[in-house]
Amino acid sequence: MLATKNYKFWFCTGSQDLYGDECLAHVAEHAKIIVGKLNESGLLPYEVVWKPTLITNELIRKTFNEANMDGDCAGVIVWCHTFSPAKSWILGLKELRKPLLHFHTQFNEEIPYDTIDMDFMNENQAAHGDREWGHIVTRMGIERKIVVGHWSDANVQSRIGSWMRTAVGVIESSHIRVMRVADNMRNVAVTEGDKVEAQLKFGWEVDTYPVNEIAEAVAAVSESDTNALVDEYYEKYDILLEGRDPEEFKRHVAVQAQIEIGFERFLEEKNYHAIVTHFGDLGALKQLPGLAIQRLEEKGYGFGAEGDWKVAAMVRLMKIMTAGVKDAKGTSMLEDYTYNLVKGKEGILQAHMLEICPSIADGPISIKCQPLSMGDREDPARLVFTSKEGKGIATSLIDLGNRFRLIINDVDCKKVEKPMPKLPVATNFWTPQPDLYTGAEAWILAGGAHHTAFTYDLTAEQMGDWANAMGIEAVYIDKDTNIRDFKKDLMLGNLFYR
Ligand code: MN
Repeated sequence: MLATKNYKFWFCTGSQDLYGDECLAHVAEHAKIIVGKLNESGLLPYEVVWKPTLITNELIRKTFNEANMDGDCAGVIVWCHTFSPAKSWILGLKELRKPLLHFHTQFNEEIPYDTIDMDFMNENQAAHGDREWGHIVTRMGIERKIVVGHWSDANVQSRIGSWMRTAVGVIESSHIRVMRVADNMRNVAVTEGDKVEAQLKFGWEVDTYPVNEIAEAVAAVSESDTNALVDEYYEKYDILLEGRDPEEFKRHVAVQAQIEIGFERFLEEKNYHAIVTHFGDLGALKQLPGLAIQRLEEKGYGFGAEGDWKVAAMVRLMKIMTAGVKDAKGTSMLEDYTYNLVKGKEGILQAHMLEICPSIADGPISIKCQPLSMGDREDPARLVFTSKEGKGIATSLIDLGNRFRLIINDVDCKKVEKPMPKLPVATNFWTPQPDLYTGAEAWILAGGAHHTAFTYDLTAEQMGDWANAMGIEAVYIDKDTNIRDFKKDLMLGNLFYR
């Protein structure tokens, strides 16, 4: 499900023919060495491909249009080894539709004090040429990332790698298709939004299906397929009967297995990558999808509860952006549920009525079967676990009526002090940065929702860059946030993005 493309990034070196063929030969040779070392670094999630040096208006325009047309190209990396007059880039840049990284580097790391002459300076003048180039990109108002530093520096290589994930998010956003099963929960504001604007801005396709169409797909799943999946569950997870009859318990679990298979077949057949449900509109489904949705999320599907299609799309997006991250810690939909306000131990218990993705789990995962106070169905089976410790980001994409805003909060995930044996749902627990008081105040001021798309495996910078590439406002709540400046950020955003 999460198989993303074998994306590539084009490495385009800028120069001109003023310095003669020998210099141009060096430029090409140096660029090839840099590309080779970047690919060998192990710090880039996707391959960089060397392209012939761009020295003329025609070649620049042609190369960028080839990048546009190449489905495997997820972005273009530009570096001006020498001086490259920026007017020759205007037409190409006007037509470029792929994410753009300006890699401001230099072939030599150190000034060769003993031998440096004018030929050397003319050949190695990125400090000069990259400023000319950056000027035109800024004048044209083109969104791009700038990474500065020597190409052999692991930190610099990591920053390029990190941007590559943002670029893939930009490209893949327009492939996200969300299936809405039923409508949003009645009267709820924050799960609503302009789906047409979302398609214009992010490329998301958001379609609704009557719940009974997918319920029919569930009913069509054979007993043998269902039982085989139940056996898999019983092998993989701890079974917490909590006094229930084992056979009755297993029948409840089987309902979720049938839903998982039926939903997945329906999603695959119709080519959707994210799904929303609503506990108040379940049609012929016997239980609110819990365990089933948790498993689908783990496979890479996006999910939002109560019809929250924005969260479903964001979870899917973040799962794509984190695909293949080494030692990934997970990505899930979460909900701010309840606080611990004890001094020094402040935090927010994150959960939902069922549907937290087990990719964020730490330690054993159990199946429980418990009544659900909402809705009018059988007691749903669900996976129960606690989550990993460490840094993560919680994001909320909100619709302000005339535009979208992405709120990004750095959070510190922790273990709760004691087990919560009576709580029959998966949880996470975090303290928002800079602290609970400021973090929650800023979040509420910004209009952040109670549902979030959360991940351990991306940074605020990556998501903020994605938002900027989409042409929407990103606001950051982090260690540097104070309310007075934060209010000014929001005011500036209101002016700039209206
Ligand atoms: Mn909810």
